[in-house]
Amino acid sequence: MASQEIENLVQALAKLPGLGPRSARRAVLYLLKRPETAMRPILAAMERVNERLVSCGICGNVDTQDPCQICNDPRRDEKSLCVVEEVSDLWALDKSRLFPGKFHVLGGKLSALDGVRPEDIAIDKLIRRVDAGGIDEVVLAMNATLEGQTTAHYIAERLENYPIRLSQLSHGIPVGGELDYLDEGTLAQALRARRPINAE
Ligand SMILES: [Zn+2]
Repeated sequence: MASQEIENLVQALAKLPGLGPRSARRAVLYLLKRPETAMRPILAAMERVNERLVSCGICGNVDTQDPCQICNDPRRDEKSLCVVEEVSDLWALDKSRLFPGKFHVLGGKLSALDGVRPEDIAIDKLIRRVDAGGIDEVVLAMNATLEGQTTAHYIAERLENYPIRLSQLSHGIPVGGELDYLDEGTLAQALRARRPINAE
C-alpha cells in the first residue's frame, strides 16, 4: 500500500466536509498521477490563500482582503444589512446575489447550553454599525433552530429603538434547517417572504 506520507495526506483530506476516506483516497490518487496539472496548481492556490487569509474588520467575512470583496463593492446597497450566524451562511446567501445589501457575521449563536453569551459573538459590533447610521433595513437571517431564534429575538430587542425596518427570514425554512444546506430556491423564497419582527 502507500507510504506514511501519502497515508497522512489521505487522512487530512478525509476530514474535509463531503469527503470521507474513500473519496479522499481517490482524490489523492488523482493528484499523484497528475503532479503538474493538478497537484501543483492546488498547492499554489492554497498557499496563496493561506498567506493572505483575513477576517473582514467590518463584517466578519473571510477573504484575502480587508475590507472584504463584499464590503468593498460599491454596487451593493449600503443601507441594507443581513445578519447571519456563520460565514457559510453569508456565502450561501451571496452565491446567487439573493441579497443586494451587505452582511454582518455574528460568528456563532447564543446558547445557554454551550455557554455562548452576547459578548462572545459580534452583537455589540452589529449595534455599533447600526448606531453609526446610514442603515435603514436589517434582515435577521438566523437558522431556524431554537438557538438561532433566541439570537434573533435578542438582537431585535437590542435594535428596537433604532429607526430601521427589522425583518426575519420567513419560516418556510424547515425547522432546524441550516441556511447552508438549503437550495437557492428555498433560500430566495425565505428572503422574499421575510417578515417584520418586533421584540415584545
Ligand atoms: Zn466585509
